[in-house]
Amino acid sequence: MTSVNVAITTRPGSSCDTELAKGPWEFDLAPGYGPGASEDDAIPEPVTRPGQLPTAYQRMDESELHERIRNAKKALGDKLVILGHFYQRDEVVQYADFVGDSFQLANAALTKPDAETIVFCGVHFMAETADILARPEQRVILPNLAAGCSMADMADEDSVEAAWEDLMEVYGDEPAADGRQAVIPVTYMNSSAALKAFCGKHGGIVCTSSNASTVLEWAFERGQRVLFFPDQHLGRNTAKAMGISTDDMPMWNPRKPLGGNTEDDLLSAKVILWHGFCSVHKRFTVDQVAQARADYPGVRVIVHPECPMPVVDAADEAGSTDYIRKAIDGGKAGDVFAIGTEINMVNRLQAEHPEMTIFCLDPVICPCSTMYRIHPGYLAWTLDGLVEGEVRNEIVVADDVATHAKVALERMLAAKPS
Ligand code: SF4
Repeated sequence: MTSVNVAITTRPGSSCDTELAKGPWEFDLAPGYGPGASEDDAIPEPVTRPGQLPTAYQRMDESELHERIRNAKKALGDKLVILGHFYQRDEVVQYADFVGDSFQLANAALTKPDAETIVFCGVHFMAETADILARPEQRVILPNLAAGCSMADMADEDSVEAAWEDLMEVYGDEPAADGRQAVIPVTYMNSSAALKAFCGKHGGIVCTSSNASTVLEWAFERGQRVLFFPDQHLGRNTAKAMGISTDDMPMWNPRKPLGGNTEDDLLSAKVILWHGFCSVHKRFTVDQVAQARADYPGVRVIVHPECPMPVVDAADEAGSTDYIRKAIDGGKAGDVFAIGTEINMVNRLQAEHPEMTIFCLDPVICPCSTMYRIHPGYLAWTLDGLVEGEVRNEIVVADDVATHAKVALERMLAAKPS
């Protein structure tokens, strides 16, 4: 796999402050799992906290870290599978057995029957999903427990439970005359296991950015409206493409009574959008699309549906990471693509397709700063642990949470486009 050096422009104090790229342990000192963690996770014993990367690994020469990773991979052989998300940094992705989106990766691990350990080089909710779908004898490791997802963290279990109670007060919990529930909870894959379990318990479902419209169709067959969390943009863009008016999509702000809505707003709602967003995709703007068109007449602009609606409207296409990858794989020499998604993925696509011009819409390069916390130091440390017989940073989803979350995931797998 080609390694790409990413030139990073930092904006101090913003989510794009990629000082993380140098030593994420400096940022990992807060107690607990960090952003994106599910409250239902058991902290593994011996207690391992973010920030506890041993000093020796923090100070280790890059070349030694890479030698340790290579040696550990060799020693562990088929007992190990390393998964790398599309947005992961190249110094880490080069060791991945599979590279893909979170759901593809969780399923890919199942194709390695001899793998006792799945090392997920992504963020916390991805490792949780892998643990839910893994076979009982497989364990999942997240090399840095502080690698969360700021979007997933915007919808915590208590806030969603409180919103649900409020909605039940407004709608009542009896089904309508046509048998449909008043509201169906739909959670994006980018959410904690606890919220997937919430959906499993309440007749709801999980979606990915690839299947969100199929999942909304499934939900509307069973419910009069949808509560969509945590990403307002994916919910809005998907529902709008299905012909639902934005007037019928009130926002739910968990810090306000009734989410900041009147009862009438909620009674006429078709999709209630949680006030969440991805700090990476929120950065893309309509002006950037216009600039790309001015700089490259004929450019094909593709953005991720986590981008704000005006950006999706201004682009030629919107689609998941897998959609973007396939669109570029299907391009031809000389094609120009302007992409609205995370920079590591965009740079990797350009490296794989030197015959095309592929660039990120955002001139201020901005990686997913939480995924950047998977530094090679953490990968070396967790793999060395496995070689020595010590399991570090295991992600364990409690059985009752996993059982309900699996129900919501299985509904998603069974949902078919109409
Ligand atoms: S890119 Fe956005 S949604 Fe994806 S892991 Fe990073 S913060 Fe979360």
